[in-house]
Amino acid sequence: MNDSTLDGPLVRIKGLHKHFGDNEVLRGIDLDIAEGEVVCLIGPSGSGKSTLLRCVNLLETPTEGTVTAAGHDMTGPDADLDAARRDIGMVFQHFNLFSHLSILDNVAIAQRRVLKTPRAEAEAEARRLLAEVGIEGKERAKPAQLSGGQQQRVAIARALAMGPKLMLFDEPTSALDPELVGEVLSVMKGLAAEGMTMLVVTHEMSFAREVADRVIFLDGGVIVESGPPAEVLTAPKTERARGFLHRVL
Ligand code: ADP
Ligand code: MG
Repeated sequence: MNDSTLDGPLVRIKGLHKHFGDNEVLRGIDLDIAEGEVVCLIGPSGSGKSTLLRCVNLLETPTEGTVTAAGHDMTGPDADLDAARRDIGMVFQHFNLFSHLSILDNVAIAQRRVLKTPRAEAEAEARRLLAEVGIEGKERAKPAQLSGGQQQRVAIARALAMGPKLMLFDEPTSALDPELVGEVLSVMKGLAAEGMTMLVVTHEMSFAREVADRVIFLDGGVIVESGPPAEVLTAPKTERARGFLHRVL
């Protein structure tokens, strides 16, 4: 824990720039997220949404700027990224479950390996988390035996197993058949209702409208609009946001 971050926002991003070679993908992002807040990040393909998310847990290294998240000074010289990533869960578009492991082991493995939780305890916790995401009676199955929606719910349970303070979601429903999207969104809604702090990249505008405290429209590596969903989604101020929403809604 970094004392200076205890009372402040759970995420604080200041002056964040990210270049890939000559390509400046993030061009000065300032963003605070309060504890318990749900922020949805929207914007065109290539606008830098994934890069921004990945800079929060340092899967990408910022070129310039600072990030503190879940009490960790991510860009500081003494950053303990392993400890930080236990406090920051991430769910990807492609669920990336361990294909050779059972569903139960997928959720229990990090507790056992990383937290050194005894097997019985880790498995009991994994069963509890699987029940929470609506997966029961599949503990012994392999990921390939589950639907995409079930696999993504297992991926959420796996992320929750570390007891994160912050959850990052990068288009968690984009790879799913349409009829499976709702079950994943409903698990995310439940998490939000329990007070989890969430930063969610999504194209699901009805989810953003219903669940987000704040919607951020990113375009060209800058935050173009930020505000409550009723403002940003219903009455966008900029032509860029109006154009984007017109295309996706
Ligand atoms: P979004 O998630 O909004 O679609 P990304 O953050 O994935 O956008 O990508 C933004 C830009 O950064 C794109 O031009 C993409 O090609 C580039 N980019 C992303 N990751 C890398 C990388 N690892 N190496 C080089 N360029 C990258
Ligand atoms: Mg992306």
